[in-house]
Amino acid sequence: MSYQVKQKSFDRLLSSKFGHPSSVFCLRPSVYLLFLLLLKSALIIGISGQDGSYLAELLLKKGYQVWGTSRDAQGGSFTNLQKLNIKSEVNLISMDQEDFRSVLVGIKKTKPNEIYFLAGQSSVGLSFEQPAETIQSFTLGILNVLEAVKLENRDIKVYHAGSSEAFGDTQGLAADELTPFKPRSPYALAKASATWLVDNYREAYQLFACTGILFNHESPLRPERFVTQKVIQTAKRIAGGSSEKLELGRLDISRDWGWAPEYVEAMWLMLQQEQPEDLIIATGTSRKLEEFVAITFTQLGMNWRECVEQSEHLMRPTDLIVSKANPSKAFAKLGWKAEKTLEEIVTEMLS
Ligand code: NDP
Repeated sequence: MSYQVKQKSFDRLLSSKFGHPSSVFCLRPSVYLLFLLLLKSALIIGISGQDGSYLAELLLKKGYQVWGTSRDAQGGSFTNLQKLNIKSEVNLISMDQEDFRSVLVGIKKTKPNEIYFLAGQSSVGLSFEQPAETIQSFTLGILNVLEAVKLENRDIKVYHAGSSEAFGDTQGLAADELTPFKPRSPYALAKASATWLVDNYREAYQLFACTGILFNHESPLRPERFVTQKVIQTAKRIAGGSSEKLELGRLDISRDWGWAPEYVEAMWLMLQQEQPEDLIIATGTSRKLEEFVAITFTQLGMNWRECVEQSEHLMRPTDLIVSKANPSKAFAKLGWKAEKTLEEIVTEMLS
């Protein structure tokens, strides 16, 4: 199974680079086998989400053999992978990250060089309604991955998707890698704990494990339960003739919004470093939700003030007003910098 999967990835790599599969090159079996052994393998835990799908696309382009997990690989539709036209290129397995046996067996089966841990209940709003599931999916999930790597193969590199939410309210100051965590939601608390677990396993067992502390990043694959996609989809319906109003909570919150396909590049770069290190991944520019709304409606030729209604019930028990980042270390270490502006991101999401 694993050999066939590698062969498929290798053929795809040759086809993408030279326009021919391996058979055309008539490689000697021993050379061919050597190539197959050198092919890197990645396991994306949580491949069906926005980031998992873009990361799979990136790693396939880089010639990786890509494995991806879902809690139910047989039942899932993997619409994001379908939209990117790569579903048949990746190898899907079921894994429940909260079940140690499931994680260990998945790692034994896929034998990855790199693991990207992205899975979990990722909505801040929903985390107030499902606090236990949110906390378990991230903290128990990453703990199981780290333990399995420790027991199975300590050479496997682990990337963990952390979150800017862990910083809480930084009083308008830009958060950097030294800013302390002060989580203000069950989601933020889960991300803070998971980040500390990664740091602890890196220090205690010398694992190559690191956290990218991600600020918000968007794309057409973002689900509608997130405010940016809600704005985009509702604005499109209103532009198409719907009489509905766009219902929002606070409009004065500021976020650092980036472009998801660029963020998965940063994830990959973090695992290619000599030493594992936690890094802030962000644009460095924060904009108000009101601006995001205005840009969207303006691009559709409408006045947002006539289409938006503010609702008390959409205000969170505790919300961060300003989220601000200093991503200069990521630039210094990885040479990575976010390129797309918010205006360009909105255009992509509307198209
Ligand atoms: P998504 O919500 O799009 O994807 C997460 C995936 O996790 C889902 O597709 C789901 O796959 C899987 N999953 C496993 N357990 C659960 C659970 N208990 N509840 C819900 N889903 C679960 O996330 P993104 O791709 O947007 O983000 C990837 C990671 O980056 C997440 O950990 C997120 O918290 C983090 N992050 C994202 C940011 C962003 O702006 N996008 C900002 C900061 C951090 P399946 O149903 O197939 O099992």
